[in-house]
Amino acid sequence: MRLHETMEHIYPIFDKMLTRADKEALLGQRGLMIWFTGLSGSGKSTIAIALERELQKRGLLCRILDGDNIRSGINNNLGFSPEDRVENIRRIAEVGRLFVDTGVITLAAFISPNNDIREMAADIIGKEDFMEVYVCTPIEECERRDVKGLYAKARRGEIKNFTGISAPFEAPEHPALSLDTSVLSVEECVVRLLELVLPKVLTDKD
Ligand code: ADP
Repeated sequence: MRLHETMEHIYPIFDKMLTRADKEALLGQRGLMIWFTGLSGSGKSTIAIALERELQKRGLLCRILDGDNIRSGINNNLGFSPEDRVENIRRIAEVGRLFVDTGVITLAAFISPNNDIREMAADIIGKEDFMEVYVCTPIEECERRDVKGLYAKARRGEIKNFTGISAPFEAPEHPALSLDTSVLSVEECVVRLLELVLPKVLTDKD
């Protein structure tokens, strides 16, 4: 009997992909999506970067998804129309789910301006793995910072559909945490986040 004939009816256990639990055991942590929502310039990326450093210091593996690594790559064919905003978030959530399913603490920093869009993301990722963090810095402060000069452009009408100026932002109804960076420092935001995140991602072995 030739080899391939003997193999034909054998479905060895190692044919199956390893599970999320296997990955989490390897990493010694639990996967989680931390989903930052808020206006442009509110502080989402800055806080995500600072939180990632603190988690890494504790031996926890993270992945940040933000405009820089998503809009330039997987979503480089999408604009800011309502349809494209939905597709943008849908793909981010699907990518995020793969990371969470690999046991990685995933930090998504996108404006994600309305309840429907955030609910879609939560449904794709799974509600129990989805922690919504509202960076609720007032628009006056975001505009004063105008990190990328986008508010000035939006005011001059050079950018259409700019969230907070010419497109709506719907505040989340029940975020796990709200952070107003006009009154909290980056460090204070991270302390509050760690209190919430660590119990969810640490395993008994930690
Ligand atoms: P977003 O990702 O929400 O568009 P960014 O993180 O890119 O916002 O920009 C926020 C800006 O605000 C940065 O220039 C950051 O240095 C500044 N900033 C000032 N105070 C804070 C704070 N407490 N938390 C976060 N960012 C702050």
